[in-house]
Amino acid sequence: MPRYEYRCRSCGSTFELNRPMAESSAPATCPDGHGDTVKLLSTVAVGGTAAAPAPSGGAGGGGCCGGGCCG
Ligand SMILES: [Zn+2]
Repeated sequence: MPRYEYRCRSCGSTFELNRPMAESSAPATCPDGHGDTVKLLSTVAVGGTAAAPAPSGGAGGGGCCGGGCCG
């Protein structure tokens, strides 16, 4: 069963739920009882959805250069 991550907008905590894909968009309740939650991007690849683009080598790979902070 896929795992989904949610974040509570009431207390700001994040929590994970194991639920069927059919219920992935169903409202989740914070462990503290809050109902104002949002679903985060799943960290588990289920079904072959490539969400994160692979980094293509460009300026040498520094992590800093490219954002304008090295200029
Ligand atoms: Zn909460």
